[in-house]
Amino acid sequence: MFSARISRSLPLLAGRTSVASLTRASPLAATALRYAHRSTADSVTVRARREQQRLNDDPEKAIKMPVLDRAAQEMFLTEIIRTMWLVLEQMFKPPYTIMYPQEKGPLSPRFRGEHALRRYPTGEERCIACKLCEAICPAQAITIEAEPREDGSRRTTRYDIDMTKCIYCGFCQEACPVDAIVESQNFEFTTETREELLYNKEKLLANGDKWEAELARNLKADHLYR
Ligand code: SF4
Ligand code: SF4
Repeated sequence: MFSARISRSLPLLAGRTSVASLTRASPLAATALRYAHRSTADSVTVRARREQQRLNDDPEKAIKMPVLDRAAQEMFLTEIIRTMWLVLEQMFKPPYTIMYPQEKGPLSPRFRGEHALRRYPTGEERCIACKLCEAICPAQAITIEAEPREDGSRRTTRYDIDMTKCIYCGFCQEACPVDAIVESQNFEFTTETREELLYNKEKLLANGDKWEAELARNLKADHLYR
């Protein structure tokens, strides 16, 4: 309390009394006066530094608004009028939000959603059981078993994807030399049980049959980047 009173009164005192004369009269008061001088100078420096930092962070604020402009803005409430105009303008623009799931936003052809195994137009499976997708999968979500058919072609006997492990990186699609495994644009495949997300070959082929037209279109749109 005492030191606070001294701090408040010393700047007034300092205007009339020198430190040297005060040291002779009262060493304690002289020390407090020096301290008050130093703390005032420090706070001024800190404020100046903060102001400089603020201007550095946002150079726009460095451009000071002229006093007359500021006075006119405050007198005529232009900020309120401009805000109301902005609201009015937005009322006649199309809304930014959509009514999902009735409405859906656009998706990139590169969107990575639910997996599918594709067939050739003849109905033959594209997959040649090279296992590149299984090898590259970082989540080790793909399990493939294969054996040669009677005609000598190599096809999978098992193709499983554990969708609960999948991180939708798209590496399997990138690695596939025959565009057999692909990620469709379907992202609405939530289930009630974990078991339903363990996809087998039949499920993946069924997805491919269902989305084939869309998958072919997306692959064609993306061919320049592959
Ligand atoms: S998208 Fe990635 S994590 Fe998912 S199955 Fe393919 S390679 Fe594995
Ligand atoms: S899906 Fe493609 S990468 Fe995977 S085993 Fe079949 S052919 Fe090979």
